[in-house]
Amino acid sequence: MRDQYGRELNDLRISLTDRCNLRCVYCMPEEGIDFRPPEELLRDGELLLLVRIAAELGVMRVRLTGGEPTVRPAVVDLVGAIGAVPGIRDLSMTTNGILLEYLAADLARAGLRRVNVSLDTLDPQKFGRITRGGRVERVLAGIARAEAVGLLPMKINAVVVRGFNEEDVVSLARLTLERPWEVRFIEVMPFGAVADVADAGIVTSEETMARIEAALGPLEAIDLSGGDPARTYRLRAAAGTLGFISPVSQPFCSKCGRLRLTADGRLRLCLLRDDEVDLLTPLRRGASYDELKEIFAAGAYRRPFGHALAERLFPEKRVMIQIGG
Ligand code: SAM
Ligand code: SF4
Repeated sequence: MRDQYGRELNDLRISLTDRCNLRCVYCMPEEGIDFRPPEELLRDGELLLLVRIAAELGVMRVRLTGGEPTVRPAVVDLVGAIGAVPGIRDLSMTTNGILLEYLAADLARAGLRRVNVSLDTLDPQKFGRITRGGRVERVLAGIARAEAVGLLPMKINAVVVRGFNEEDVVSLARLTLERPWEVRFIEVMPFGAVADVADAGIVTSEETMARIEAALGPLEAIDLSGGDPARTYRLRAAAGTLGFISPVSQPFCSKCGRLRLTADGRLRLCLLRDDEVDLLTPLRRGASYDELKEIFAAGAYRRPFGHALAERLFPEKRVMIQIGG
């Protein structure tokens, strides 16, 4: 399956829920968020039908996200069922790690291959401030458990926000000296309702790299071509690697082959634009399998190209917790 710009689409991110057990400042506003009532969210059977359609259209890789995917009821069974859909070769999850200590073993047994764990700082107080009350030791215990049960390679995602954690990139990068992890630094994206987090100024990947090099020495580039938007480097003699994801300063739209399915059954055509295709309504109106497949493929085909962050045109309809990153 390709879109109108010829980009191959074999990667699907599925948001399992719009709820979360944390409340990160860049992901959701303090209040006023419009959570969908449960009856407006895709049920397990509906979700599996859409995954089957996606796989028939060429999707091979699925990443589960949210909200926090681990708070979805019966998530382990759902992981097993998605992994069993013919054509799905790689099933991973992006999680805040809070529940991984308890769920990692069952998720691995059900067929999950890898996790990306979000961790913006190792400092308990700063972690509490960024996540509005989360406890970093829970995440660290979750990471340890995930490694122990073989959810590898371990990737850590840190969103860098000025005034919150821009100095903490050094201690996060230092982790790779001893551990075979990929620690990835992500530029914060301004969504309408949380655009204020970007107002103090985006911390570009360039700035983060300079800060890490000043403290820990030169970064050696590693050439890992492929679909991953991260540019990868290594500190001298390090066990792990560092990735830099720069959606704001160096957009990677030409290489983006990602489709996103929201928890309320919309195909989101670009993370940073509000264009969506409603799949839930036709599904519930009784559209046939072939009709749904046609709606899915036609929507995917018209994916837009490029965002308009430079002109301060931010996505307004949803924030990340409602999309799935
Ligand atoms: N709850 C899970 C987690 O935190 O990993 C999965 C969902 S979360 C929306 C997915 C990723 O999006 C996380 O790594 C998070 O840090 C990132 N994210 C959320 N809001 C963002 C923003 N405004 N800019 C950049 N990344 C963001
Ligand atoms: Fe929750 Fe993840 Fe958003 Fe933080 S980034 S509020 S953990 S969904």
